[in-house]
Amino acid sequence: MLEVRKIDTFYAGSQALFGVTLSIEQGQVATLIGRNGMGKTTTVNSIMGIIPVRKGEIWFNHQRINGLPSFKIATAGIGLVPEGRQVFPSLSVRENLIATAANIAGSDDPWILEKVLEFFPGLKQRLDNPGSQLSGGEQQMLAIGRALMINPRLLILDEATEGLAPLVREEIWSRLGNLKDEGQSILVIDKNLEALIQLADHHYIIEKGRIVWNGGSDQLRADPSLKTRYLGV
Ligand code: ATP
Repeated sequence: MLEVRKIDTFYAGSQALFGVTLSIEQGQVATLIGRNGMGKTTTVNSIMGIIPVRKGEIWFNHQRINGLPSFKIATAGIGLVPEGRQVFPSLSVRENLIATAANIAGSDDPWILEKVLEFFPGLKQRLDNPGSQLSGGEQQMLAIGRALMINPRLLILDEATEGLAPLVREEIWSRLGNLKDEGQSILVIDKNLEALIQLADHHYIIEKGRIVWNGGSDQLRADPSLKTRYLGV
């Protein structure tokens, strides 16, 4: 479904990604993990066309997407929950949710407002409140709900549990588990290794802009040296 092939990405003269390669199959949950500043967000922003890639290719659903503007990449079916949530602060919860609504993949049971509110019941009482008045947890649920409203083929979450209270984090992990059970393809970036190991099928470790390891949850769990070497835990 998604194939990132040997991409190099630069910020002005400084290279941030070196030949990054990763792929996600239909229905798979994959993670991209690594310490701060290693290139996770840069990889996401390269996939989304927010930063241009200088070398390599990105394919999504049989279409080459690198070089396309971000909105075209979104309409090809990639829903992004960006780092820092970035909900529209002056729009109400309802307006945030319907702003991007579409049924891109032609789903029989698409995400519509009512379905998102059933999935995140906490948003129901907040429908008419502006995004700026929500708690961090509510904003995160709104950001995920908004990404689901495009009915993405692939959902990407960049640090979706960062800065949230433990109970809210648990709810987010549990919702991501529900999405996986429904067959949603997901790329997750997060620091909570144990939750990632439980949720995902495949993991990529990034170090200084290079993918240095990839493998399944059992392999990651079985090799504590990976954690000390690349994740600092
Ligand atoms: P974090 O978990 O802290 O968000 P990350 O793994 O997502 O880390 P990136 O944000 O992708 O890391 O950063 C990768 C490298 O690119 C770092 O060396 C960072 O300093 C650099 N970088 C990131 N954004 C910019 C920018 N806008 N301009 C210049 N360099 C940048």
